Amino acid sequence: MAKPAALELIKLTKSYGGTVAVDAIDQVIPDGTYTCLLGPSGCGKSSTLRMLAGHESVTSGDIVHKGANITDLPPARRGTAMMFQSYALFPHLSVVDNVAFSLKMKGVEKAKRQKEARELLELVDMSAYGERLPDQLSGGQQQRVALARALITRPSILLLDEPLSALDPFLRIRMRTELKRLQRELGISFIHVTHSQDEALALADHIIVMNRGKIEQDGPPQEVFDAPRTEFVARFIGGHNILGGSGNRKLAVRTDRMTIATQSSAGAIPASVVAVEYLGTIVNVTVETAQAGELTVSVGDTAYFHKPVEIGQSVFLTWKAEDAHQLAA
Ligand code: ADP
Ligand code: MG
Repeated sequence: MAKPAALELIKLTKSYGGTVAVDAIDQVIPDGTYTCLLGPSGCGKSSTLRMLAGHESVTSGDIVHKGANITDLPPARRGTAMMFQSYALFPHLSVVDNVAFSLKMKGVEKAKRQKEARELLELVDMSAYGERLPDQLSGGQQQRVALARALITRPSILLLDEPLSALDPFLRIRMRTELKRLQRELGISFIHVTHSQDEALALADHIIVMNRGKIEQDGPPQEVFDAPRTEFVARFIGGHNILGGSGNRKLAVRTDRMTIATQSSAGAIPASVVAVEYLGTIVNVTVETAQAGELTVSVGDTAYFHKPVEIGQSVFLTWKAEDAHQLAA
């Protein structure tokens, strides 16, 4: 069953002077899902998120939240909360006071707001750090505090702008798991902006791919990866070879659906090995072809080492017709 819409974006547009950053996007974001807004730098992700949060005025179009038009409501009255790209905490306030800050602004009495702040610190596994100042915490810990601070308003939608980009790779993967767990536990919608396809594939129930202020494709991660609609999505999501010259309708074939043979067969494309990259569980073999330029074939490590290839070696590429996926022009 389709979940009810948490948010509906209707012809949502943002222009800065002459620059159209978000170009009349229509999108439904289902309730209680982890949605990733994915795309390259400058494609309009942050502008979209800031309009949803109410931190940026809408040039034209509407934002509807559970049936109510919230386009022009102030941030505190939209049911959303935002965790910023730079999750700067107030340096002179303790962790508990940082988390309780918005309740203080609302006039909630001290004992009550501190109790709520401690509950949220527990949720993000930071109970032991309530009395510390932000500069006595690691980057990952500061981020958990920032999350608790955003969640204390009990939003029905949490908006996160590149929340993992400042963390080192190890911590990034750990926090990624934490975010997913939190979203599941709370059952609210998370809308997470990222330029990392790995992050989006790992986290999202629903991926929205943006390019130049427009939505190129949206759907479950498996669908976006397996059936990219356009060349842009296929290249951006990665793991695909694009075949076919300019002008024609192009094809995408997943790099792990191509096979390398040392002997020719009907329909096989002759190629020459130019690079071999060992990645642990898979080995990426890059080959040069006359027909289609450089292509990559991902081979499982066991299969690869059973029959390794050498740079400069002549090989032949094959794939099944059903693995060639037509792209929209
Ligand atoms: P992303 O988050 O995907 O990197 P942004 O939404 O930040 O993209 O930016 C989209 C476009 O809007 C870019 O061309 C950017 O330069 C422009 N832009 C963003 N914020 C402003 C602003 N405050 N003033 C003028 N142009 C802006
Ligand atoms: Mg951004």
